[in-house]
Amino acid sequence: MKNIHVLLIPYPAQGHVTSLMEAARCFTSNGLKVTFVNTDFTHKRVMSAWSETDGPSGLMQMVSISDGMEPCDDRNDFGKLTKTMFQLMPTKLEELINDINGKDDEKITCIVADFSMGWVTRVARKMGIRLAVFCPTSAAVLAVIMSLQKLTVDGVINSKGVPLKDQMIHLSTSMPIMNPAYFFWLCMGDPITNQIFYDFLVVDGKEAAEDAVHIICNSAMELETGAFALFPKILPIGPLLATNTSTRQVGHFWHEDSTCLTWLDQQPIRSVIYVAFGSITIFDQQQFEELALALEDTKMPFLWVVRTGTSGDNVDYAYPSGYMDRIGTRGKMVSWAPQQEVLNHPAVACFMSHCGWNSTMEGVSNGVPFLCWPYFADQFFNKTYICDIWKTGLGLKKDDAGVVTRGEIKNKTEELLSNNIIKENALNLQETLMSGLRAGNSSNKNLNKFVDWVKEGNDHM
Ligand code: UDP
Repeated sequence: MKNIHVLLIPYPAQGHVTSLMEAARCFTSNGLKVTFVNTDFTHKRVMSAWSETDGPSGLMQMVSISDGMEPCDDRNDFGKLTKTMFQLMPTKLEELINDINGKDDEKITCIVADFSMGWVTRVARKMGIRLAVFCPTSAAVLAVIMSLQKLTVDGVINSKGVPLKDQMIHLSTSMPIMNPAYFFWLCMGDPITNQIFYDFLVVDGKEAAEDAVHIICNSAMELETGAFALFPKILPIGPLLATNTSTRQVGHFWHEDSTCLTWLDQQPIRSVIYVAFGSITIFDQQQFEELALALEDTKMPFLWVVRTGTSGDNVDYAYPSGYMDRIGTRGKMVSWAPQQEVLNHPAVACFMSHCGWNSTMEGVSNGVPFLCWPYFADQFFNKTYICDIWKTGLGLKKDDAGVVTRGEIKNKTEELLSNNIIKENALNLQETLMSGLRAGNSSNKNLNKFVDWVKEGNDHM
């Protein structure tokens, strides 16, 4: 019997690759065949961090195409990367699909594209292949993109995505209040990158979301009822977690340092501050030291992910003088942690996080309270969900000089850990979220509905 063959294509950033690969694992366990398309650069990273004992399963093949950049170009320049991909990748993707369909009798009949790769819509349309969109962010982010026209008509933003009024908005009465200044394309670091994101990612993302028959999202109905009520086309199938599948190999860019799990085993229950800011956040030296000293001041055990120059990010931090001696074994630093396992460990008391959407979903799935320290893009809005809507965390505030001080970090950590209501909210939300994955419940039903749709289309071919 032939397998149904689906092509998946993520935006080339860690959080996007991981969550789409977790979705891919759900598809293969439901009998779909997956071709997972990374850029050449990402493919090399993923394959070199992939454990040899657990390669891609029989139903999944990993392939790659060029992102159009030179080998020496900086892939952390997301503006340039986004613009360059848009120019070359459509042709490369078309060639790849023709090539696969020319020799594989299980032809690609459906594409699932990250909404950040909205240009894929035009390839799917041209080739007559059915399209679904994947949303690796909160549904609220996609709801904003799908509301662009309304936001323009209402005078909230102009045709270039720039806010026209300094005023909070509601996309609908059931959605949280939003500050347009924090729309993610306005928080990418500099005005040129912001504009590139708006032109190449937001506008195309909207077209993709409108064209797609289905949109699947790494979220859950109970987390974002307002966004799903506003756009019922968005089907939450999350939380997507590596632990939902039979493998831990979900497209990490770096080797995970598992020694921190052994270190966690030696710590008392709910005693450890887990500190990690995802794959992109970079601190300046002053902020780094302030954080280091705050962790020292808490007198608590801490596990801190410090991405170093060796991970290709061109960052190399200096610890305060004598720091390592003073900290001893109370603090454990790693350059990349097996985060989902860390958050699932009973020794973890709280998660100091940049509030990337994957980290948010992983923290919530494990009932861990948050200390929120958003850095860019949609992370500011994710913090709103955590602190104001779900009430499972506290936000860290910058002082007038833009620094989150040692005192602020220490005080908020103590405040969070002595707040039983937040702890209880986190555990209740975990229970609600995880129950959605059980057979017959919301995320599980949506996944089945989606897989059935993929299979149905093929029956008619
Ligand atoms: N992550 C990890 N180990 C680390 C830090 C992060 O495995 O030491 C994973 C984390 O579990 C999440 C992803 O990297 O799945 C980061 O995605 P997120 O959306 O939170 O943030 P981004 O990196 O996109 O800013």
